[in-house]
Amino acid sequence: MSATETAKSNDDSRAPANGKAKPNIAFIGLGNMGAPMAENLLKAGYTLSVYDLSAEATQRLQQAGARVADSPKAAADNAQVVISMLPAGKHVHSVYLGDKGLLSDLPKGTLVIDSSTIAADDARTVADAATKLGIDFLDAPVSGGTGGAIAGSLTFIVGGSTEAFARAEPILATMGKNVFHAGDHGAGQVAKICNNMLLGILMAGTAEAINLGVKNGLDPKVLSDIMLQSSGRNWTLEVYNPYPQVMENVPSSNGYKGGFMTKLMQKDLNLAMKNAQDIEVDTPMGAKATELYEAHTVENGDKDFSSIMGRYDRSLLS
Ligand code: NAD
Repeated sequence: MSATETAKSNDDSRAPANGKAKPNIAFIGLGNMGAPMAENLLKAGYTLSVYDLSAEATQRLQQAGARVADSPKAAADNAQVVISMLPAGKHVHSVYLGDKGLLSDLPKGTLVIDSSTIAADDARTVADAATKLGIDFLDAPVSGGTGGAIAGSLTFIVGGSTEAFARAEPILATMGKNVFHAGDHGAGQVAKICNNMLLGILMAGTAEAINLGVKNGLDPKVLSDIMLQSSGRNWTLEVYNPYPQVMENVPSSNGYKGGFMTKLMQKDLNLAMKNAQDIEVDTPMGAKATELYEAHTVENGDKDFSSIMGRYDRSLLS
């Protein structure tokens, strides 16, 4: 049994984790991912204060039992752990850094876990500022999509010190099934962009293959079932089919609403391309996927990223 599984099986919604009192947690950023993650912490018995710019987002958590704060600092008041799930690096910087940033207000020894997907360099900048103040910082981006966030089966990919990782692991295990320590600060973000570059390639490739079959007269569900049992099998065919009505409870069967927005996939592909350029590594497939998503984002940035299907058949977007 892995360390994560042990933590999960010892966890009881009324009992403290690992025999210690459960820390109070501040949760900042309650969007498609943050809201269900925060709800899972509440279900596991953590006391939660939450903050989001959107009142609609905080209402949902208030109903689930969280205390709603009117600023990140107010949310962090009396919290030993801060978790954030924000769109991009600029949001993470604005929440944590500068005179008005949260770090300057946190007591020494606070554990900060940022699960947003941001550039490794941005994560290291926040980590350095935190370390100088005696605060433990972890970059802990996730994989598994909104389905994984709701089910509590996310994969956490963590960068930071071994000690901070050990503190975070039981908390992350209430929101995820797999918790990996990728290395030092920034390593979680590097692993995450490698994964998402591959996901962008797989989603575009899967949409392209289904479209070719459909244009040849094949039924998209029959073709998907065939590829699922053949060598083209991949995560998108397994749990996130991009063609409408092939699968239930996925964004493609719900007008491409919710899920992982195209503009966020575009952001991740840009992070991968920037990193590859910086360290002079060739990524031609990643570059092609970036090009496809860049064009698609112009009109479909807020739709789920599986809407890249519409790049091949525009009628599916209406
Ligand atoms: P989202 O846009 O749905 O949610 C982001 C939330 O942050 C919003 O509610 C927004 O109001 C809030 N916010 C923005 N700036 C803020 C600030 N300064 N203070 C407080 N709240 C602020 O995005 P999401 O889909 O939840 O994604 C969040 C992160 O997780 C992104 O970095 C994304 O790349 C990553 N991610 C998303 C998925 C997915 O499937 N959606 C999967 C893996 C990783």
